[in-house]
Amino acid sequence: MRASFYEGAGRFRTGTAPDPKAEAGEAVLKVKRVGICGTDLHIFQGHLDHRIPKGGIIGHETFAEVAEAPRGTGFATGDHVVVEPLRFCNACRTCRMGAPYLCYKLQVRGVELPGGMQEYWAVPTERMIKVPASLSDDHAAVIEPLAIATHSVGRANVKSGDAVLVFGGGPIGALIAMVSRHRGARVIVSEVNPFRVELLKGLGIEVVGPGVDVVKFATDWTGGEGVDVAFEVTGNAAAVRLMTDAVRVWGTVSVVAIHSEPMAVKLYPMFARELTMQGTRLYARADWEEAIRLAASGAVPLGPLVSHTIPLEGLQEGMEQALRGGPVMKVLVDLTA
Ligand SMILES: [Zn+2]
Ligand SMILES: [Zn+2]
Repeated sequence: MRASFYEGAGRFRTGTAPDPKAEAGEAVLKVKRVGICGTDLHIFQGHLDHRIPKGGIIGHETFAEVAEAPRGTGFATGDHVVVEPLRFCNACRTCRMGAPYLCYKLQVRGVELPGGMQEYWAVPTERMIKVPASLSDDHAAVIEPLAIATHSVGRANVKSGDAVLVFGGGPIGALIAMVSRHRGARVIVSEVNPFRVELLKGLGIEVVGPGVDVVKFATDWTGGEGVDVAFEVTGNAAAVRLMTDAVRVWGTVSVVAIHSEPMAVKLYPMFARELTMQGTRLYARADWEEAIRLAASGAVPLGPLVSHTIPLEGLQEGMEQALRGGPVMKVLVDLTA
C-alpha cells in the first residue's frame, strides 16, 4: 500500500509499506480522506520532533471505510467510520476523572502512533465511531475538527443569547463560530486573511476584518459590557495581548490554539473583571457524537470549509502551501486519488 512518512523537519516522502495486519480488537480500515491541520503544520516544521518518530505516519483527522472487522464488534465491511485518534491508559487519575483524552500517558494516532496517511490502517474498534452513509467523504473528514469545536464551545458553556468573539477564522475558528451560532449565540470572528474573511462572510458570519480595533468593536457591539466568551484560535501574540480586554465581568477566555512559546497576556482585566481562563484541547466521546449530529443534520455546513483536495503524493506540497497562507482553508488528502 501507499503511505506517507515524516522524514524530519520540512520533509514528507510518499512510498510503500506492507499492508497492516489487525491485532486483537482491531479492524483494518480503508482510509478515504485525511485533513491537514495546524498540529500537522507544527509537525512539518519540526516542532513536535520530541513526539513523532522519524518515518512516522501523520494524520489524525480521518474518514475511512471498514475493510475488515472482527466479529461481534458491531462493525462490518463497508461501514463508514471516523477514528478517535487517542490511546489512553484507563487507569491514571485523569482517566479516572473522566478525561481520558488528557491521560497522563496519552498517545495520539498521527503523532506518537501511526495515523491515517496510509491506504490501510489498523485501529482498535473501540476508537471507531460510525457516521451516516449520507455524509459525503469530504464532510465526514471534517468531523474531527468539528469535535474540537463542540468540545471547546461546551467547555466554555456558550448559551443562547451570549455574545461570542472568536480570534482567528481558520477551520477551527469557523467551526467554533458555527457551533456557537447553532447554540443561539451572537458571534463575531476576527480574521485578517482576505480569502478567509470572504469565506466566513459567505457562511453568514460577521467578521471583524484587518485594520479594525477588535476590542473597541466587541465592546461597542455589546453595549460597552464586553463579550461573554472569547476564543483564542490564532496562536498569535497580538490576539493573546488583546483577548482579556474584550471580555465582560465573570466572562470566559478559552485558549484553543497551540502556543509553543510564552505569550504576554494582560492580567489586569483578568483580575479586575474576575475572568475565567480555560484551555481546551481534544474531545470526549460525547463531543464526537454532537459533531456527527451537527454535520449529518446540516446544522453546521462543512463543505465550504474544504478549499483544497490533494492526492497523498501531494502532501509535501500541500504542507508548503498551507504554511504560506493565502487562499487556503481546510486541505484534505484524498487517499483514493
Ligand atoms: Zn487537528
Ligand atoms: Zn490515563
